[in-house]
Parts: sequence; C-alpha cells; structure tokens
Amino acid sequence: MSDGCVAVEGVKAPGGRGLCLLSGGLDSQLAICLLREQGVHVEAVVFASPFFKISAAKRAAENLKVKLHIVTFTQDILELVKHPPHGFGGALNPCIDCHARMIKRAGELMSELGFDFVATGEVLNQRPMSQNRRSLGIVENDAALGGRLLRPLSALLLEPTWPETEGLVDRSRLLSLNGRSRKPQMELAAQYGMKEYPSPAGGCLLTEKGFCRKLADLRDHEGLGEERLVWLLLHGRHFRLPGGAKCVAGRDARDNAALKKSQGKGDMLLYTVNVPGPTLLLPCGASEEDLALAAGICAAYGDHGERTAVLVRIVRGDGAEERQVTPLPKERFLGWMQ
Ligand code: SF4
Repeated sequence: MSDGCVAVEGVKAPGGRGLCLLSGGLDSQLAICLLREQGVHVEAVVFASPFFKISAAKRAAENLKVKLHIVTFTQDILELVKHPPHGFGGALNPCIDCHARMIKRAGELMSELGFDFVATGEVLNQRPMSQNRRSLGIVENDAALGGRLLRPLSALLLEPTWPETEGLVDRSRLLSLNGRSRKPQMELAAQYGMKEYPSPAGGCLLTEKGFCRKLADLRDHEGLGEERLVWLLLHGRHFRLPGGAKCVAGRDARDNAALKKSQGKGDMLLYTVNVPGPTLLLPCGASEEDLALAAGICAAYGDHGERTAVLVRIVRGDGAEERQVTPLPKERFLGWMQ
C-alpha cells in the first residue's frame, strides 16, 4: 500500500487536529486519508484487549505513516460484556456500547493531547445493529463529546459537527457513503493507491460463537474479574470437568509455554514426563477427582503409543509429584470441552 493520502498541494489546509480511531480496516484508513487530504493533522488510536488483535492497526499506521496511540481497553470491554446497556449483537459483542466507550476514551485522549475532535470510519447503515442512524445517535450521546465526533465517510448524511461548523474541516470535501456496499470504498482505496487492506469480516473474538462459548462458561463459573483467565481463553482446549474445575490443555508448544507462564498461586500444572505431550493448567485448582481426570486427559493427549500408562508430573504451590496415569478414553472427556 502506498501512503497516497497526504495533503494535496495547493489546497487550503483548514488546520484542525483530529484523532481517528483506527482498526486497520479499510474504512478507518479512508477516514484518515480524507482528513489528511484536506490538511488536517491526524493521529490514530487503537484499543487493545484480549478480543481484538491490534496488528492490523499497527500495520495500517505504518503504511499511512500516522502516529498510533494504543489504549488498554480490557477492563472497559469486560465491564460491557458483563452489563451491556444496549445489549449484544449475534454473540457476546456489545457493539453499540463498545463503540461508545472507545469514542469516549478517544475523547479523553483528545483533551489530554490537545486534539480538536475525534473521527471514526463508521459508515451509516453499513452494519445493521451498530451503524444504523439510531445507533450512531446513541453512540454520540453516550460518548458525550459535545459535537466533536466526526464521521468523515458519511458526514454529509449527518448533522454538521463542531469541527465542520468551526471551519477546522471542510464539510464540502467529506462524503455521503451509506449502506453495505464496499464498492465506493474500494474505488477510493484505488484512488489513494491502497493495494492491500483487510477484508471487512470482523476480527473481533466477541463475534465468534465458538470463542463466546468459552467466554460464557468462564463468566458463569469463575467470573470475568481476573484478566489472566480471560487471556487464557486464547490458548488451548478448554474443559469444564465434572467436579466444576476449569482445565486448559495446550495444543502446541506455544500454548504449552503460555500455560506454564500463566501458572499462579493455587493453580495446578500438569505435563507428561516420559512421552511428548501437552501441558495442562487447572487455573483455580481442582478436587482430587477432577485432578485425576485432568491427569487422564494429559496422558490421553500424550504420544503414548501402546503404553497403558504415562508418567504425569503435577506441580502446585506446595510442591510436585509424579503419577503413573492411564490415558482417559477421548469419548469420555470430549463432551466436557467448551
Ligand atoms: S466487533 Fe468487537 S471490537 Fe468491534 S465494536 Fe463490536 S465488540 Fe467492539
């Protein structure tokens, strides 16, 4: 991708300072380009949490040569997953409240760093739940930026905002995009010389039903108060054992290392000793019955070949022990997987 969206020479620069939400998707990149094209100084902000990778935003910021601010958003989004005032989308995605909160946090950064307004790549009616006219209004109200929220891609279909009425941004050079078609955005991208950009399909784990099953199980058992347990959802296979213990089994070396690193006081860590196999974490401990079942799962995923027993090491706060363990038949425990 080229950084084609620099200010056009000879065009009067209105001279505002905008802070633009950047997911790394095409729309947020275009919003930045549109503003920069008319001479606005733009920097970008992305919100980091376990549910949304920020690598696309980092890549886009690099390509656009725009300064990127990274805001930690985990507690914000967890609070909204627990109590979403405007409800969820198709899974555990509280999109309306999440947008409002991100814009609100961007507004705080705007004041702190001396920007004039916040901009987003939102397009009217592009997403049925979170970008219809009513939702955009709710987001604007809840974010409470007092007119300093600009949506350059659909601005001409919305009420003029403070940076437009104050002449910091030239409204006549903003757009009136509406609806789900991506064609106008793709044409604009071509004009700006953008060749690669991610597909619009999500990227947020809160929209994925498989991930949300694990998240809902955590919410309903241990709760969402401990960030470490939420980050753990990104690794391994997750089981709810019959006695109620949570059990995470690493799928590969990366998972195994992450589980080992995550072991806290009161947790139990299991791994095979005499054959290659997974690392398992019981992140909040377990009853003796559940521990025995977890050891059986650990042995089952080990490379046990013809062996009838596998040596499993159990490490916990008060020491370690090794046990000869019979692999548990998979049909016995696959139903416990989230
Ligand atoms: S898709 Fe995820 S990150 Fe995006 S607004 Fe919805 S909950 Fe927030």
